[in-house]
Amino acid sequence: DAEVVFVGRSNVGKSTLMRELTGHSGFNTGKKPGVTRKPNHFDWAAESFMFTDLPGFGFMSGVEEGRREQIKTNIVHYIEDNADSILAAVLVVDGKSVIDIIDRHTNDEEIPHDVEMFYFLEELDVPAIVAVNKMDKVDDRDERLNDLCDRLGLFPPWEQWEGEVVAPISAKRGSIEPLKEALRFHFHEAKRDDL
Ligand code: GDP
Repeated sequence: DAEVVFVGRSNVGKSTLMRELTGHSGFNTGKKPGVTRKPNHFDWAAESFMFTDLPGFGFMSGVEEGRREQIKTNIVHYIEDNADSILAAVLVVDGKSVIDIIDRHTNDEEIPHDVEMFYFLEELDVPAIVAVNKMDKVDDRDERLNDLCDRLGLFPPWEQWEGEVVAPISAKRGSIEPLKEALRFHFHEAKRDDL
């Protein structure tokens, strides 16, 4: 089966999203951040995808720095090792806070996690879908999505990337159609490449 991996900082709503997509209830929502530590695999019957829920990365209260680094290293290795069979990677971000977080970290020596992950996927030729979650909490929708494109090196307006790369969603409200559309796009692209 074609594999789709899900990555994101902890607390962006990745578990909520995966539950919404798969109908499985076994995701660690609302519990202590960082509880998802091992890859979890799920089938998406509709398109015969295999979904892989990778651990949340970035700051997690109660999880020490060394452990956080280890989690990130594991994620990177998993994607590297499986890059050939990964159809797409869904990078889940919190639409409400993503720009503030990216901009806050851009002053440091390091590249912000989300941006780094996006470039890393590009380097490996793994198509990335950015699921911009919690859009129900965002008022200036177009501005926010254009800012995000700008930070990721995608030429605005964001609508250019709709249906393929940028998917504004609200997992909690069950509005995830833009992500499904992007997944279908990549699924059909991959099938076409097989011919
Ligand atoms: P994870 O750590 O990325 O797996 O995040 P969770 O799925 O556990 O969600 C973290 C918090 O965000 C929970 O309180 C969710 O109810 C909330 N959440 C998830 N999706 C949405 C959304 O689309 N909108 C809003 N407002 N909250 C959400």
